[in-house]
Amino acid sequence: MKITLLGAAGGEVTGSCYLVETLRSRVLIDCGQFQGGPQADALNHGALPDVGSLSAVLLTHAHLDHTGRLPLLAKAGYKGPVFTTPASVDMTGLILRDAARIQTQDAERQNRIRERAGESPFVPMFSGADAEQIISQLRPVPYREPVSIAPGVQACFVEAGHMLGSASIQLLVDDGKGARRTIVFSGDLGPKSAPILKEFEPFTSADAVFMESTYGNRDHQPFAETVQEFVQIITEAIQSGGKVLVPTFAVGRAQLLTGLLAWAFREKKLKPFPVFLDSPMAIEASAIYQRHPELYDEETVAFLKARPIGLDLKTLHMTASPAESRAINGVPGPCMILAGSGMCTAGRILHHLRHNLWSPQAHVIIVGYQGHGTLGRQLVDGATKVTIFGETIAVRAKVHTLGGFSAHAGQADLLAWFDALAASKPRVCLTHGEPDARNVLRDVIAQRHGITPHLPAIGETIEL
Ligand code: ZN
Repeated sequence: MKITLLGAAGGEVTGSCYLVETLRSRVLIDCGQFQGGPQADALNHGALPDVGSLSAVLLTHAHLDHTGRLPLLAKAGYKGPVFTTPASVDMTGLILRDAARIQTQDAERQNRIRERAGESPFVPMFSGADAEQIISQLRPVPYREPVSIAPGVQACFVEAGHMLGSASIQLLVDDGKGARRTIVFSGDLGPKSAPILKEFEPFTSADAVFMESTYGNRDHQPFAETVQEFVQIITEAIQSGGKVLVPTFAVGRAQLLTGLLAWAFREKKLKPFPVFLDSPMAIEASAIYQRHPELYDEETVAFLKARPIGLDLKTLHMTASPAESRAINGVPGPCMILAGSGMCTAGRILHHLRHNLWSPQAHVIIVGYQGHGTLGRQLVDGATKVTIFGETIAVRAKVHTLGGFSAHAGQADLLAWFDALAASKPRVCLTHGEPDARNVLRDVIAQRHGITPHLPAIGETIEL
């Protein structure tokens, strides 16, 4: 049997996609979009495996860099099942619909310009109908129960602690000619200390392991320290009377921050003040979180049981409509606005930044990774002027950067996950990491366990 790496390899962190082939079955694990970088477009439009003989698709989690090319499978005529956890079914629907909507809007805008220039229209990668088609093929599978997903292939999904519904997957593969192999895919692993979700659950045996290495070269600031810093920044900002803008990823980060605010209000670390969750997608993602309490960790269950969270969050306003969003401009006093996009590349946060960045009373808290070339990165790097919607805006607001809210496991947690598997002496391939992160993790694993992980390239095939 063989496994071909169709993304998130060769030092690339996006575009996760593995093809597992036996004499009897062909199974795809994830089918993600490549994001950022000059080659992303070409890679996204590159060839996918022939869908005619594809038996099944499995998803580790709903993030776009693991699901964003799924609609292309539907477009190519794939009619089979896409197995993932129940919460991932919900989240994947939300994320793919949003991606289709953004692509369609972008294409319409570009095509107005192209039409005036007499150029041929730009065709988006996939349509809303392609997204709906593949969403209708999603099939929920429970955690921790091996299920038969293709001839000779059983899959078992366990918690990965990275986002709601995230999983690591173990495949038990029997090629019908006497060869049996156990293959483990880590998916993206979350940090052990992060609240809300349960910790990842490691597997204990495998013949081959495909493991993410995003933070293979370092550990994050301890979570408790980051929370302390977060509370301190808000305390100062509220005292200065200004607005606090937080560019927020709609799924995961927005729920973490509203959860932390609820805790800080209940524990009297902060006096309640107006907070606006100004993102229709984050509001929907929060509703999906509420539908899956079975995935919460013990602390979160106890916190919710002790007192209804609504009592702590009386000052939280969900502003879904554009009119409600615009009305926030008229709010005079101190308040916090959580809005997307997380890297300030689009969305409502741009309007709030345009209205507030020039004010010395305003604060911006950066809580997530900011890619090169994004407006968020310019703010982190201390730009004194930025351009928003073609207008020059002076940056007089205070910009704070908080590094410890990552949804990815740091090096120590990655090693803890692998420790459980090490005794079975598997072949290890490190994926989903930039070159330095992969190199360092390879060396640490080699030193610790005497197993030297392989660093596969995109397109490489591993024979088992
Ligand atoms: Zn992810």
